[in-house]
Formats: sequence, C-alpha cells, structure tokens
Amino acid sequence: MTPAAWMPAPAAASLWAATARPAPDCPPLDRDVQADAVVVGAGYTGLSAALHLAEAGIAPVVIEAEQPGWGASGRNGGVVSSKFRLSFPDIAARHGMAVAARMHALGHEAVDLVEELIATHGIADAGFVRTGRVKAAHSAAALAHALAEAEWQRHELGDGSATALSAAEVAEETGSGAFVGGVRETGSGGLHPLNYLRGLADAARRAGIPVHGATPALAIRQDGAGVLVDTPSGTVRARQAILATNGYSWRGAATDALRRRLVPFRSAIVATEPLSHNLAAAIMPTRRTCGETRRMMRWFRMVDDRVVFGGRGAFGKDDSPAAFRALERAMVGIFPALADVPVAFRWSGLVAMTMDAVPHVGRLDDRILFAAGYNGAGVAMASLMGRYLARFAQGEQPEMGLLDAARLGPVPFHSLREPAVRLVAGWYQFLDTIGR
Ligand SMILES: Cc1cc2nc3c(=O)[nH]c(=O)nc-3n(C[C@H](O)[C@H](O)[C@H](O)COP(=O)(O)OP(=O)(O)OC[C@H]3O[C@@H](n4cnc5c(N)ncnc54)[C@H](O)[C@@H]3O)c2cc1C
Repeated sequence: MTPAAWMPAPAAASLWAATARPAPDCPPLDRDVQADAVVVGAGYTGLSAALHLAEAGIAPVVIEAEQPGWGASGRNGGVVSSKFRLSFPDIAARHGMAVAARMHALGHEAVDLVEELIATHGIADAGFVRTGRVKAAHSAAALAHALAEAEWQRHELGDGSATALSAAEVAEETGSGAFVGGVRETGSGGLHPLNYLRGLADAARRAGIPVHGATPALAIRQDGAGVLVDTPSGTVRARQAILATNGYSWRGAATDALRRRLVPFRSAIVATEPLSHNLAAAIMPTRRTCGETRRMMRWFRMVDDRVVFGGRGAFGKDDSPAAFRALERAMVGIFPALADVPVAFRWSGLVAMTMDAVPHVGRLDDRILFAAGYNGAGVAMASLMGRYLARFAQGEQPEMGLLDAARLGPVPFHSLREPAVRLVAGWYQFLDTIGR
C-alpha cells in the first residue's frame, strides 16, 4: 500500500449507518507525533484498548485506515454474548476444568464490561438490553447436545443461566415452527453496534486521546527501544504498538504478521422494512436474540419492528447478490410470513476465524501487542481484549486460558485458505442439512 494508492473505501450501507448518532470528527494525522502507545485500528478492540491505556496513565494515539467503526465493529449484528465457538464441556475435556472455568469467567467479564463501558461513558443510545438469547435446535442431535451442555454448565460451573425449551416453547419465543426445541440463556443481549462504537470513540476523544481517521499504518519499523509507524501523512513514534485490525488485517505490510494467523470469512446481514403491527407482535415477541445450532449458524433479532437476519456471506473479498438471496431464502424458510416483506438493507463484513476457534491476545514480540480472531463473536470479547491489552502493555502477564497469544501460530498453507474455507463450509452445510 503506497500513499498514492490509498483510496477511502465506502462505509457499509447498513441499518446501523442509517440510524446512528453522527460520526465523530477524526481528521487524518498531518505531522509526526510521539506517544506511549500507537493503536492501529479503531474498532472495539482498538478503542477499548485506548481507553484502558489512558486510564492506566499510558498515552495512546489511535490511527484508523478509514473511520472509527468502518470495520466489523460498525456493521455487526449487535448480539452481545459470553459464548465462544468451543463449548465449555469440550474445553474441559481437552484442557481441564481450570481452563474451562477461566474461559467461562472471561466470557461473563466481557458482557459485564460492555455494560460498564456504556454506563461509564454515557452511551445510552447503544440501547443495550440484556434480553437473553434463544439457541434454537435444528435437529434432535443438536438439541441433545445443547441440553447436555446446559446441564453440564449448571452442574460443573454452577451456572444455571440456561434452561431447556420444548419445540412449542421455542415457537412461542421465536414465532417460528422451524425448530425441534432449544435452550434459553439469560445474561446476553443486544445493542446498536455503531452507536456503541461511536460512543467509545467520543469517549476517547473526550479523554484527550487523539483518534485519526483516514490514516492507514503502512509499515511498522523498529526504532530504538520502540516502534516507528509510517502513515501517508506523518509518522508515529511510540514505545509499543497494538494491532487491532482483526478481519481487516490484509490491508498492508504493517499487519502482515497478524494476517497470516487469521482466516477471514464474510458474514452477511439483511434487515427488513418495518413489519406491520400484527407481524411485529408475532415474530420474536420476547425480543430475545436468537441463534441456530447449525455449524453454519444463522441468527436473528428484532430491532425496532424490523427483522435483522444474519449468516454466511459470499466467499472472497466482495459481496454477492447470490449470497444475499440465499440469506433471504433462509429467513423466509424460518419465517414464512416474511415472504412479502421487502428487505430494506443488505450489508456484510469480514470476521476473523482462527484454527482453534478462539480469539487470542498478547505479544507478537517485545514491542508489538495484538488481540484478534473473535470467530464472529467479538462485540463483548473485543471490548474485553482492550482491557487486557492495556494490562499486557503495562508489563503484566494476566492468565488468559486458551486465549494466550502463544497458542496462535501462522495458519499452515495460508495462501490456500479460500478454497479451504469453501471446502469446510460445504462440509458443514452438508452436516447441518442431514441433522448431524
Ligand atoms: C456481519 C458481521 C456480523 C457480526 N455479528 C456479530 C454479533 O452479532 N455479535 C458479536 O459478538 N460479534 C459479531 N461480529 C463480530 C464482531 O463484529 C467483531 O469480532 C468485532 O467487531 C471485532 O472488532 P475489532 O475492533 O477487533 O475489529 P474491527 O471492528 O474489524 O476493526 C478493525 C479496524 O482496523 C482498521 N485497519 C485495518 N488495517 C489498518 C491499517 N493498516 N491501519 C489502520 N487501520 C487499519 C480497519 O479499517 C477497521 O476499522 C460480526 C461481524 C460481522 C462482520
């Protein structure tokens, strides 16, 4: 990426962009500056890290290639959950009870932190409500697995937040007869992702933290005991750098080491026009967020009388109308009453998957830190990783369970990741279809 080649990219035409508070004014860097830490990327990870660094007396500068929230943090589904892609019983079986208990605690700390940040920084328009969540089973085998997991959690971790639901109860919760049963979980919830993000950006600016939009990190070089970051219009000299670029780490040499450790995967969302009064009362009447048990999971929630429905997007770097058509077919399959309701917004973004299905946080080397790989569940976890990045930056070594950075090596055969992702997605879809 050279300065001449740098072109701003359009923002996602999302429901969130159409309904959010105004974007903060974040002018590009226009000179050489110095700070204690330079944070690359202004999503939840980067902004939370910056706020926590400043709180600890470490002065950060945030640089963002586009504008704060341009990445996944401004375009996600807004589902706030304490879950990882690995189940806690599986973690305990493979890594022991102590690790499972630590991961469980981190998940809950993440959701609590979202609530805390919203309260501390006055981000009421994030509209965070702990609605709870319904996990709707697509097959008898998936239901048995979800029920066993809920029981294990109650028995082994003393966490009784999940209760079993019959097929009729799931139909009452969702307004759909497509499921064989499920589990209701309390604690999780939903928010307006872009208002939450912009609230964090506004809080950073109020705290005196410089946040520069349209300022891509082009290269990060060693400089004495610290780093020197090149941007098109100035350099940042700092003791440490924090890479907070997650699924968008492919954009240049500065984040290449992170890119090679992640597999990007496109996730897509559609939002309908507002439903009629009767329909809005019949679909997801409890207003909990819902997700399926499928490996290629679809999720849905009501937002101001609209259905917001998400799932797998197109393969590769660009959106495709076919992927949106498939998503809309899936939505009507679950909610036949939506067949004639027009879709008002279609958008997508990149999530970062990891080989072991969990995020990672810590050091790349003695002066570069990172947190990434949220596997499509980063609203709460990316916010929390900001808190831990600030602790690592202060020289602490917090216990991170499976999230330890040392566990995240480069993806083998990274150049083959696109055909590999297609292959794995196809296999998962096949298993989902046959109910396994
Ligand atoms: C469609 C979609 C739906 C999702 N739904 C949910 C959900 O409902 N619940 C949930 O928990 N999670 C969800 N996620 C995942 C969640 O949004 C992410 O895990 C989280 O936002 C990651 O935050 P982040 O700050 O690490 O990365 P991002 O928000 O992606 O931010 C990275 C930023 O880095 C910037 N950047 C990249 N390269 C450079 C560079 N060289 N210099 C400067 N800046 C750079 C990018 O422009 C970008 O703004 C979803 C994701 C997507 C895409």
